[in-house]
Amino acid sequence: MPGLTELYQDLHRHPELSMAETRTAAIVSDTLRAQGWDVTEHVGSTGVVGVLQNGPGPVVLLRADMDGLPVQEDTGLDYASTDTGIDPDGREVPLMHACGHDVHVTCLLGATAIFAADRSTWCGTLVAVFQPGEETAQGAQAMIDDGFLDRFPRPDVCLGQHVGPMPAGTVVTRPGTIMAAADSFRIRLFGRGGHGSSPENTVDPIVMGAAVVGRLQTIVAREVAAGDSAVVTVGSFNSGHKENIIPSEAELKINVRTFDEAVRDNVLHAIHRIVDGEATVSGAPKEPEYTALNNFPLTVNDAAATETVVDALTGAFGPDRVQAMLRPLAGSEDFGVFGDAAGCPSVFWHFGGTDPKLFGDNDTKEIGARSALPAAVPTNHSPFFAPIIDPTLQTGIQALLAAAAAWNSPNM
Ligand code: ZN
Ligand code: ZN
Repeated sequence: MPGLTELYQDLHRHPELSMAETRTAAIVSDTLRAQGWDVTEHVGSTGVVGVLQNGPGPVVLLRADMDGLPVQEDTGLDYASTDTGIDPDGREVPLMHACGHDVHVTCLLGATAIFAADRSTWCGTLVAVFQPGEETAQGAQAMIDDGFLDRFPRPDVCLGQHVGPMPAGTVVTRPGTIMAAADSFRIRLFGRGGHGSSPENTVDPIVMGAAVVGRLQTIVAREVAAGDSAVVTVGSFNSGHKENIIPSEAELKINVRTFDEAVRDNVLHAIHRIVDGEATVSGAPKEPEYTALNNFPLTVNDAAATETVVDALTGAFGPDRVQAMLRPLAGSEDFGVFGDAAGCPSVFWHFGGTDPKLFGDNDTKEIGARSALPAAVPTNHSPFFAPIIDPTLQTGIQALLAAAAAWNSPNM
């Protein structure tokens, strides 16, 4: 498609931080309008929604996320980003499309162009969602909170995709949970500060925090069943400044990954129980304080709709290029927010963006099973993440067209 490579390279050169995707949103809106779509801007801050109606038929929602990351690009591409931005803490940060959301925007704009150009191939209503703030788990909920379901046709199915470190040209998905839930929060533990020489006159928050960190390890070991899994990581533990001062508080930052709603509830409940309990037995003068940092829901593929999508993708690409993921990824997404809010099935899939040569002798048929990637293959969020343009863009566009056609083909 003429202009698509240039569009992609332009987006790649100019990434924007989550919830600040103003330039990207303007390009998306202008492009959609020129293609003939009804366009609404500023949905949930910088979100853009395009609607294209073509007679009676199902409403199919297609979603792309738009945000970049505070990463210094090191790909060496001639269209690499050198832009910087100001993060929410007021710091200047480098910007990079290190998660490939520029690929997602380009692919969806490629698909919208084809839908608008030839209406004889489909019927019903298409809703193209260009979502802000995926990396911070804010954008999908912000669009829902901005009246998305009342302002636009209610979807019968939600479809979304993500580019990743698989061989370009391949597509993978699975029914059921495909991405983990992620819950992050900050906990403040309160003690009573004093002189390091007289601990009897204090409540030491460092000892309290150390007990919390140790005891949290028992959640996965002793409270999660053998067949289930979870990750509880304390990624930050800060307290005190000087060796002879017992500080008055400690701060922990915790990240939790789970793959099942019941396990998630149990793990989060256990964390609260342990933290509150350790504060009590330490004689803390005040209850611990919890602040949510972000919450990504589980990404769950509806089983029947996934089968429909896999059949459609297999028809488009052939069986060798469509593979089943054996396990969900521990990464997280907020795509599921749309389907959950609308009460309709969702299907999410991953498509490859990596030059197949970089896999060497690795058996590319075992994508879902591979535990570690070859060192030469950069992952999402790496400064070296550089999807190859061909056939990545074509694959992403074709996947959207094929999956949507499973619902809105006039021959269905
Ligand atoms: Zn991403
Ligand atoms: Zn990401």
